[in-house]
Amino acid sequence: MKNGKDKHVLVAGGAGFLGSHLCDALLSEGAHVVALDNFQTGRKQNLRHLEREPRFDLVDSDIIKPLPARLRSKRFKFDEVYNLACAASPPHYQADPEHTMLTSVIGTHNLLTFAESIEARFFLASTSEIYGDPEVHPQTESYWGNVNPTGPRACYDEGKRAAETLTFDFDRSGRADVRVARIFNTYGPRMRADDGRVVSNVICQALAGEDITIYGDGSQTRSFCYVSDLVDGFLRLMAYQGLFPGAVNLGNPVELTVGDLAERVLAMTGSSSRIVARPLPVDDPRRRRPDITRAKQLLGWSPRTSLEAGLKATIAWFSDERAHDGKSSRI
Ligand code: NAD
Ligand code: UDP
Repeated sequence: MKNGKDKHVLVAGGAGFLGSHLCDALLSEGAHVVALDNFQTGRKQNLRHLEREPRFDLVDSDIIKPLPARLRSKRFKFDEVYNLACAASPPHYQADPEHTMLTSVIGTHNLLTFAESIEARFFLASTSEIYGDPEVHPQTESYWGNVNPTGPRACYDEGKRAAETLTFDFDRSGRADVRVARIFNTYGPRMRADDGRVVSNVICQALAGEDITIYGDGSQTRSFCYVSDLVDGFLRLMAYQGLFPGAVNLGNPVELTVGDLAERVLAMTGSSSRIVARPLPVDDPRRRRPDITRAKQLLGWSPRTSLEAGLKATIAWFSDERAHDGKSSRI
């Protein structure tokens, strides 16, 4: 296994929120990085600071289609392939559910066969959504989940479940060396103001003095992980050299209600926004908290950033964006 400066890495979904932070982390380790993205939800501005970086390249492509020929040339002999490509926010992934499903199934298959052909290690960004509305709490990796296969979230949840299936089949048949992270709700700088997820919505609404939209009664829970902690987990999982670890939960086990989150953001921003109730989306999971025993034992990983510190950094980033933009684009 190469490390640091000898390594060539492909990051599909590299212009997105998590993908752009992963590119930064890989580059700071000395790796050569190619980000591939179709810019469905990703943005060039997330990577603008890398424009003059000689070890970085950006390719505009959709993983549903065959990979561009130049990526298959000898110049790019990748050691690692990360698949982060897939819209992650419910309003975005539900806008074109067919594309979401195909991204996870056809796209993951394309990247797996590519990784197989060049003997690269493959990483799948899976999700806590594969547990659906969980009946087991907190969620351990051995739990099979409770997913509605026909509802509006299914394009994402079932797509990721199928992507995991393909990935584990490639592993079982010795076709690829794989790593699967089940990511729980993650937040931080570079989320889009119009992302639609709760952390970015609540912060942007508080900063703009707009009503804070809480879906349902706000008693549903989530566990929020700060982005730098998550990316540290990605790198550790990809570098793990033991026998195939199986899927690994990565997330922050500190659980709180969505209503609580809104109250905290209101207090931290000093905003006078009102909290208003909106209908609870169909199949919205009632609670979610990762059991991270496996990540702790195998990777020595656990999140370090407190919710307070992570929210502070994220609020500061969105404030800065607003100051530069003069406006924030919303869904
Ligand atoms: P994001 O929407 O910011 O990033 C996804 C990126 O993939 C975007 O840049 C988008 O343009 C690109 N993309 C989408 N479909 C593509 C396709 N067919 N071909 C090429 N590029 C495509 O979301 P994110 O939060 O950065 O999530 C990244 C990955 O992590 C996703 O796979 C997501 O499912 C997973 N994940 C994220 C979270 C989270 O809380 N952020 C939680 C669980 C799982
Ligand atoms: N949510 C909310 N207000 C918003 C956006 C989301 O109350 O403006 C709720 C949503 O219904 C869910 C929780 O916050 O219960 C987390 O939603 P998000 O979209 O961030 O992530 P996911 O549902 O995928 O966990």
